Amino acid sequence: MHAAADGGLARVRVPGGRLTATQLREIARASASYGNGVIELTSRANIQVRGLGPDGGFAARMADAGLLPSATHERVRNVLASPLTGLDGPGGGGIADVTPLVEELDRRLCARPALAALPGRFMFALDDGRGDVAGFDADSGILPTGPDEAAVLLAGADSGLRVPLGGAVTVLLAAADAFLAEQAAQDVTVWRVSELHDGPARIATRLRAVLAPPSGAAGPGSGGAVPEPGPGRAGGTGEAGGGTGPVRPRAAAFGPVGVVPGGDGARVALGVAVPLGRLTAEQAEALADAAAGGEIRLTPWRGAVLPGLRKDQVAGTAARLVAAGLVVDPDSPWIGVTACTGRPGCARSLADVQADAALVIALSGAAGPSGSPGPPDPDGPAGSRGATSPGGTGGAAPVAGRAPGTGTLPVHWAGCGRRCGRPRGRVADVVATGDGYRVELDGTGRACAGIEETAAAVAAARGDL
Ligand code: SF4
Repeated sequence: MHAAADGGLARVRVPGGRLTATQLREIARASASYGNGVIELTSRANIQVRGLGPDGGFAARMADAGLLPSATHERVRNVLASPLTGLDGPGGGGIADVTPLVEELDRRLCARPALAALPGRFMFALDDGRGDVAGFDADSGILPTGPDEAAVLLAGADSGLRVPLGGAVTVLLAAADAFLAEQAAQDVTVWRVSELHDGPARIATRLRAVLAPPSGAAGPGSGGAVPEPGPGRAGGTGEAGGGTGPVRPRAAAFGPVGVVPGGDGARVALGVAVPLGRLTAEQAEALADAAAGGEIRLTPWRGAVLPGLRKDQVAGTAARLVAAGLVVDPDSPWIGVTACTGRPGCARSLADVQADAALVIALSGAAGPSGSPGPPDPDGPAGSRGATSPGGTGGAAPVAGRAPGTGTLPVHWAGCGRRCGRPRGRVADVVATGDGYRVELDGTGRACAGIEETAAAVAAARGDL
């Protein structure tokens, strides 16, 4: 629990973003009972709840729901995973189902007392080969390069190390050990690998020393060695599969929204965007009710994926979610719009940025509360922009037919110049100034006094004027 301007703020880690429907319902009910009734989704696919009193009732409810399995390690259970892993089959871009690795990593992390000393911002990432979360600058991550090989990522970059997938968790934890050892050796206290002097290279050196098997001995996991990478591939930027050349991950700008075909052809997943990443308790209940497979996966794009829907369930499910104010249309003007906490939750904020962002979207002519024109086609193409493209080059794919004034560039609203929660990559910034907003893109900006002027500047920055 942290103190915020609007009361206690609790953050609950959700490794891999995976929740059961029962857990999501319990979060919704506890947030309404003890907090302000809004569940904020974070860029680490965790949740946070505001407006809590000091009595600890919310934490007790979370513990009872199985969401606080380790009091000592709660802050360090930051584990990102590709949200569609294991769901969309070989054509979806993933190489391996990393779901079992998420569970193994969480279990072994919590079983290591020394790793409770990791900073709360230290992050693990398990990308399944599609390259969607590999670019989130995780401190310790993997990106599969083949069916049984993964590149080891340190501070979001290719370390040059390759490991068998069966040994991935051993290496991820060894990188966390190496971070703590290097921090002590440099006599500093930092949050992230990138903040250490020469951090990625020094940790890679420590990993080689720990993991390279002595002659004749087995390496991590399935017995492979930790070889140096092979020669790089031409045009390999962001590519994950098909060899051991260097990989250069980039963060995908958008998460899955709409229907995602399943690997077996019978079931599909539904990607759901959550406006500004804020789920009301009612919306959370609607998501839990819609979870045909009993599972919800939160995404680092502050949305959710519902696995396991039959095709004949899609239209009704989508209609109920849209009626609750959620978004299943990949062309909705809500896609790619983020905002910091702003007023009243942050004392530094110069504006209620979330209300103003919603007003600007309304001014953009959205088709309805969610901007959704109708139910998605369960047999149509995958409803995702950028996040599921094979190779994971990320960024906004060209999109036809979007509402006027919405554009395709991510836009981030902030109540002050700190710009908390700003996504990676090219982003249009809308920063409160006290006299209005300043809309900035690529180093140039425009001061806007009123909300309509701000809306016009945002539309221009996003590329639709
Ligand atoms: S960007 Fe500024 S106003 Fe927004 S949450 Fe961060 S400190 Fe607060």
